This record gives sequence, C-alpha cells and structure tokens, in this order.
Amino acid sequence: MLQHRKIRRAVEVCLDGEADAVLAAEVRRHLSECWSCSQDGEWLLLIRASLHRIEARRPVDLAVARLNRYATTVMKEGR
Ligand SMILES: [Zn+2]
Repeated sequence: MLQHRKIRRAVEVCLDGEADAVLAAEVRRHLSECWSCSQDGEWLLLIRASLHRIEARRPVDLAVARLNRYATTVMKEGR
C-alpha cells in the first residue's frame, strides 16, 4: 500500500520531468505490474496533456486550478 502511494507521487515527479533515471525506471517497472497505478498514471497524463493544450491558448485560469486540485485529490485518495 505504501509502495503504491510512493509510486503515485513519483509518477507526478516523472510527469514534471524532475525524476532521475533510477526513479523513472522504478516507476515504469511498477506501472507495468500494477493495474491500479498505471490506470491512475494514464488519467493523470491525460489531465496534464489537456492542461498544456489549454495553457497554449490562454493563461492559467480558475478552471485549470480546479482541475489541478481535482487531480491531486484523486492521487491522494487512491483506491
Ligand atoms: Zn501500484
């Protein structure tokens, strides 16, 4: 359980491009074995991708802040 929480936080670090090679490898290995985390990882990726598209058109607004907060909540709650 603790492992899952650690990986989920690490996924965010990876998405931010701040993970080192060791952490990135650990995350990839866990995601390839864990259905729950990989599903959350993909969900987070989709949110990030859509946020980036929005940012390209206009500055960060309330909707983006809400979406970010929602993503964080989803990650914290786990399953
Ligand atoms: Zn997991």
